[in-house]
Amino acid sequence: MAIGHVTIVGLGLIGSSIARAVHERMPDVTVTGHDVSADVREQARRLGFCDAITDDAATAVAAADLVILAVPVGRMAAAAAAIAPGLKPGAIVSDVGSSKSSVADALAKALPGHVVIPAHPVAGTENSGPAAGFATLFDGRWCIVTPAADAPADAVAALTGFWEALGAKVDLMDAAHHDMVLAVTSHLPHLIAYTIVGTASELEEVTESEVIKYSAGGFRDFTRIAASDPVMWRDVFLANKDAVLETLQRFNEDLTVLQQAIRRGDAAKLEDWFTRTRAIRRSIIEQGQDDAAPDFGRKH
Ligand code: NAP
Repeated sequence: MAIGHVTIVGLGLIGSSIARAVHERMPDVTVTGHDVSADVREQARRLGFCDAITDDAATAVAAADLVILAVPVGRMAAAAAAIAPGLKPGAIVSDVGSSKSSVADALAKALPGHVVIPAHPVAGTENSGPAAGFATLFDGRWCIVTPAADAPADAVAALTGFWEALGAKVDLMDAAHHDMVLAVTSHLPHLIAYTIVGTASELEEVTESEVIKYSAGGFRDFTRIAASDPVMWRDVFLANKDAVLETLQRFNEDLTVLQQAIRRGDAAKLEDWFTRTRAIRRSIIEQGQDDAAPDFGRKH
């Protein structure tokens, strides 16, 4: 299946990054954009990363071979309903939502008879909005595609080829498994960061100015994650509730193990644990998912 026209609905960090990457990597492909916010549409027109931007969702998708919904997870159903009357027969509808089972259900319900193939590029930053996007966001990152069992193979191949052309590596996965994997690798880390930063700012014995002043001790690395978009993350936790609660239960059990080791002075337990976690960091660097520069490459 050839993709000559892509429409992106939702022109924030991820949507605008896709548009920029298509312009840069696939110059023959036409990109149309739409966002529910007039202010975002205006910014996007000024930034110029789409060939056309429409005020109406159904008009935006009329010529599209591939439509990508890049809106918060809780807005997927509304965005899908808005494009439904304009979709051309055979067009592929995909998305970039950070949780997949509930989004897949919402899209299937809103778009009966259409080709729906959910996906999730595991790439992002703590910033949002159309000015935050950049064309190289997906370079070397994974995009997880979660087709239903009866999804047409040529459409899955076309979507896979599209993400590879944007610089991503593609894995195919069942939506429920995706949600468990991402609960561990993304959702729980965000929940922990949101907790730590919230807790530290409410301690009575240590002032907020001390927390900020001495943040280089480790705290500041959590603040990057805890600065992520509040609406997006509100929706992710509500949409991936079961997998997040299951992972959180395991985390609480492991935290209790470490708590006991500290209380009992179990040095061997602590050292074993921290040795194992250090090896995981090394594997991430070896597999090109982060830079080897010490302290995240900060200049000292
Ligand atoms: P973002 O920067 O906030 O952009 C989302 C845009 O969608 C906003 O401009 C929003 O407008 C617009 N929107 C909301 N409802 C809409 C609708 N019904 N129709 C059209 N536009 C609508 O968010 P993002 O970071 O790009 O995230 C978008 C999606 O990517 C989310 O599903 C998220 O889970 C996923 N994702 C994010 C990351 C990341 O690191 N940020 C990584 C991978 C995947 P308003 O602001 O006016 O509502």
